[in-house]
This record gives sequence, structure tokens and C-alpha cells, in this order.
Amino acid sequence: MKAKENLTRRTFIGRCAGTGAALLGTVLLLNSCGGGSEESRDSAVDQGTGAKPADPCTDFTGVSAQELEKRKKLGYVDRSEVPGSNCANCSLYVPPADGAACGSCLLFKGPVYGEGHCIQWVAKGS
Ligand code: SF4
Repeated sequence: MKAKENLTRRTFIGRCAGTGAALLGTVLLLNSCGGGSEESRDSAVDQGTGAKPADPCTDFTGVSAQELEKRKKLGYVDRSEVPGSNCANCSLYVPPADGAACGSCLLFKGPVYGEGHCIQWVAKGS
């Protein structure tokens, strides 16, 4: 009778150990594959959003909607279609600071291309 109880206890413990090992193996396998890991996907997204735009003159970080609207109302374009006039030869243009890629304009905030243009263009020196 006692041998039967030991056998039952041993069987029970053996089955528990087998089930636990199977569960642990499944968890380890899922973690190694990245399956169901929201954290790994989230960190990839964060790295993507943290990247700066390839062209710094299109980075409007910190520029308010009001300033963007001003830019739009003045008809600012990145490339002037008016021969001989562009932001670089406009008296309201602020050239890029040392090492900066793009300038700015006295009329609105945000980056401005030297090749840009708007309806307020004023020849330098006038
Ligand atoms: S006023 Fe217009 S043309 Fe002149 S720098 Fe500003 S955006 Fe360019």
C-alpha cells in the first residue's frame, strides 16, 4: 500500500516537473523568436520616431500652426519660379548660421530654403 502511495506521489511530481519544463520551454521559445513581444516592436517604433528628417529644412519641430499658416498665406515655396528672385537675394532672408543647412525669414518662423520664394520678396539693398 505504501509503495503505491509513493508511486502515485512520484508520478504526480514527475508530471508536474514535465509540465513545468514544457511551459518554460514554450516561454523561452516565444521570447527568443520575439513572438508576442510588444516591447521589442515598441522600441523599434521609438527609434523610428526619434530620427531626424533627412532634410533639416523640412523639420518643423517647434513651429506653431499659426506660423505655418503665415508661411502658407505668403505663398512660400521651396523653389522660386520667379527668375532672378529667391529668398537668398531677399532683404528679409536670414542666411544659415555657421554649419546650419537652411536659413530663415523675418516674416515667419521655421526653416527656409535659399532657393525659396514668397509674395513678400524684397530685393536686397532696396
Ligand atoms: S520674404 Fe519671402 S522671399 Fe523673402 S526671405 Fe522671406 S520667404 Fe523668402
